[in-house]
Amino acid sequence: MGTRQLSAGERATNFYSNEYVEFTLAIGCPVNCHKYCPQEVLLKNYGKNERLMSLESFKKMLNHIPKNVMIDFSGFCEPCVNPYFTDMAKYAHQEGYRIHVATTLQYATNKAVKDLLDLPYEGFVLHLPDGKNANFQLTSEFKENIFCIMQGIPNVQYITMNDLFISNERENLCRGILPKPRRVGFCRKTVTPQLVVMPDGRVQTCDMDFKLEHTVGNLLHNEYSTIVKRFRDRQASFNLCHYCKKYYSIDRYLIYKIAGKLGYFNKSKWM
Ligand code: SF4
Ligand code: SF4
Repeated sequence: MGTRQLSAGERATNFYSNEYVEFTLAIGCPVNCHKYCPQEVLLKNYGKNERLMSLESFKKMLNHIPKNVMIDFSGFCEPCVNPYFTDMAKYAHQEGYRIHVATTLQYATNKAVKDLLDLPYEGFVLHLPDGKNANFQLTSEFKENIFCIMQGIPNVQYITMNDLFISNERENLCRGILPKPRRVGFCRKTVTPQLVVMPDGRVQTCDMDFKLEHTVGNLLHNEYSTIVKRFRDRQASFNLCHYCKKYYSIDRYLIYKIAGKLGYFNKSKWM
């Protein structure tokens, strides 16, 4: 039943400064929050490969990931859409991985939610509707499930999917609305990679890559370390990165690095 309580700040710092793999368990998220989630771009570019990750594929992929890398269930789709989600989470926990979940609980059954209560989480973030942007079905099963999680997972945290949910202008970049590019920069994810895996095993550079432009390997066949090396070697040449707000300017990077070395702040606060 859950882990020790973490403050919102602790969870965010911990999560964003950790190395993790985000698992996308299905293609075509039915919640369809069009305003801030470019699902149509992903659907157009994915092709005809496996659209629902199987438990067998998940286990095979996990075999290629070291235990210090956190497993995050979110990616480019609501994880509860996949009927094997809770089996995957249980398996990852049994194998000794730390797990993190970000979910709307849409399409979750009562049974799936009861199963989720039995696991400890590095973080469990509930995404709640604002009644305007996200396409939620407010069924009685959904309400029961929400209360079950609120009462049963002590370190649960909440994000409202309102106008502020838009982050890093991902939806604009993926839809071709581009700011001025930055030619030279530094991405913190080259230090702590946060790759995103698709149901067919393809691994994308990060959670910005809904266009699937920058594939760095396939976890069904490649070791995690091989994929990370490829990501680090190629990242600076990725077109997407040059438009991303997280591609920090070199001067900002150097200032933080020097200040961090002098002990002015914990580098994880900006990494
Ligand atoms: S924001 Fe989340 S729930 Fe909404 S469409 Fe995208 S993946 Fe689905
Ligand atoms: S700079 Fe590139 S790898 Fe880094 S977060 Fe942005 S798009 Fe992703």
